[in-house]
Amino acid sequence: MTDDLKKNLSEIQAQWVTVRGRIRQKIGDAQFASWIKMLTLEDYEDRKVILSAPSNFIRTRIIEQYLDIIKSYWLVQNLKINDIQIIVSKKKNNNQVITTKESVKLKEQNSQDVFKSISSDLDNRFTFGNFIVGKPNELAFAAARRVTESKDVPFNPLFLYGGVGLGKTHLMHAIAHEIKKRNPLRRVIYMSAEKFMYHFIKALRFKNTVAFKEQFRNVDVLMIDDVQFISGKDSTQEEFFHTFNALIDQNKQLIISADKSPQDLEGIEERMRSRLGWGLVADIHPLTYELRLGILQAKEEKLNSRISSNILEFLAHKITTNVRELEGALNRLSAFSSLVGREINLDMVQDLLKDLLKSSQKKVNIEEIQKKVSQHFNVKMSDMSSARRSRTIARPRQVAMYLSKNLTSRSLPEIGRRFGNRDHTTVIHAVRKVEELRNKDVSFDEDVQLLIRMLES
Ligand code: ADP
Ligand code: MG
Repeated sequence: MTDDLKKNLSEIQAQWVTVRGRIRQKIGDAQFASWIKMLTLEDYEDRKVILSAPSNFIRTRIIEQYLDIIKSYWLVQNLKINDIQIIVSKKKNNNQVITTKESVKLKEQNSQDVFKSISSDLDNRFTFGNFIVGKPNELAFAAARRVTESKDVPFNPLFLYGGVGLGKTHLMHAIAHEIKKRNPLRRVIYMSAEKFMYHFIKALRFKNTVAFKEQFRNVDVLMIDDVQFISGKDSTQEEFFHTFNALIDQNKQLIISADKSPQDLEGIEERMRSRLGWGLVADIHPLTYELRLGILQAKEEKLNSRISSNILEFLAHKITTNVRELEGALNRLSAFSSLVGREINLDMVQDLLKDLLKSSQKKVNIEEIQKKVSQHFNVKMSDMSSARRSRTIARPRQVAMYLSKNLTSRSLPEIGRRFGNRDHTTVIHAVRKVEELRNKDVSFDEDVQLLIRMLES
């Protein structure tokens, strides 16, 4: 077995431990001990996990009852898995232990071609064609296109900034692809600020900063990603500044990205900060619902993964942080749906994406919901749990129950209890009623949407 294979197996082994832990939490100790505990990890090969069960009976039962759970939990750990098989084990008691010897190989840098070695690899998927444009990113997108289309240097530097996962790196790679497509002879270097620093410090150590600068002399376009990482490191900053100025003087296009605007970058010298803002500063704003949905639809089409449009809408509503999380969610769902071979429903989504949904959503509690809803409809907070049944009071109460069901993880009986000890069937009725009204009555639906927005932000 090669080291790589061993390493793979030990990772899979570790994932199996986690998966078992989560299943145990979900199904309880007794069920766990009777079934899941019986399984042993046998092998992992070609993205396929093989588990063994001690008897055919146990195997069948596990396949019927637990295979989907195993699959979904495993996918959360590792998206690469594309099949999980359960076989009947041949030997008894085959708890295998896999040992790994971590071998760290130092990569030698062979710098025959300076540009190849110093420029980072470009992601082929990060093209202009794959970039979905909406209000929040249209300026950055237009500026990026301009740089590739124009014969001279339209603005220098182009400074792109925005929060994490909003497409800065994507746009930079797209610029590089496009420039190379138009003219393969143009020299484009793309690298992270960290890499820049690494090379520079290495050059300092070997006392050849001249050679370091030489590397950039013949470049046409230099892109440095995430320059906030340069902050604070004095000598690197200094060098960066000189390189930067030299390149601008030679009329080379510079493209810089950061998580903040030049003025807001911390730990960066004033002269540097102002220099960075000389060209065009384009920010990418947080995504709007429309753009989130647009991105999801485009990616879904590519994946062709049978994820229905209402699930996409659900994701666009719930995952508001950034595109990376949206993509992650979609990949997970699509992997799961192809693994189990059927369409997924909202329940499965909530289960599969528990971690993501939690992190991107503000925690709301029932009391807060009751308060906001009573304010909104101008009823007394105490009426949320009172016995009064006139419509002016019952309707807001139903809305509050509906929101409690949808925005918190409380169970129906518990929600009932919190609304004046009502039965869970009353809660179900309220949820249905509100759903029905939302579909029928536009202004009512707007009220509810507004409440959701207020509660979640
Ligand atoms: P950043 O560098 O700003 O942190 P990235 O460029 O790495 O973000 O984007 C994160 C992920 O989201 C990437 O996979 C990228 O392809 C995708 N992405 C970001 N914005 C868009 C967009 N407007 N359209 C399509 N995909 C996008
Ligand atoms: Mg990035």
